[in-house]
Amino acid sequence: MLSTLTILQRGAPVLSAIAKPIPNVATAEIKQLIVDLKNTVALAKGVGIAAPQVGKSLRLFIMCSAPSERYPEAPLLAPSVIINPEILHTSNQQELGWEGCLSVKGKRALVLRHSSIDVSYLDETGIMHNQTLTGFLARIFQHELDHLDGITFIERLDNENDAIDEAQWQQQILNNTID
Ligand SMILES: [Zn+2]
Repeated sequence: MLSTLTILQRGAPVLSAIAKPIPNVATAEIKQLIVDLKNTVALAKGVGIAAPQVGKSLRLFIMCSAPSERYPEAPLLAPSVIINPEILHTSNQQELGWEGCLSVKGKRALVLRHSSIDVSYLDETGIMHNQTLTGFLARIFQHELDHLDGITFIERLDNENDAIDEAQWQQQILNNTID
């Protein structure tokens, strides 16, 4: 039976809380949460989802990039489970890119992120990974890690009003293609 979870929207207290590290990845609760998060993000056609977005204040997120209408340049990445993530090093270089969020429905904004990051995390089997991520994958990682620290992409903007409606964004993209 395919189970999905309700995605909480900005304003829910858990989305501004600091999530707790997971001491043991092998519990039934964590295994179920991973299955549910994968189903939920797939159904929502997202490129990532963090545990606090479904009301679990734990340091766990899923990254699952694929090209889509919203992210045409996205690389293909099978759903990856990221537990207790850390950013070990960030590039000085930063870049702007469009982001949305399953917890901030209907809004998009240009967000400044580090172009390249060195990260460490545990996968669902408890194996530690050290990796360098660049571009869109570095962006997803930074966006999802922010959720574990109680930050949505709206808080990364100089001005909350810099976020635009999805319809407006589609219009802009269309105009850019014509130019
Ligand atoms: Zn988000």
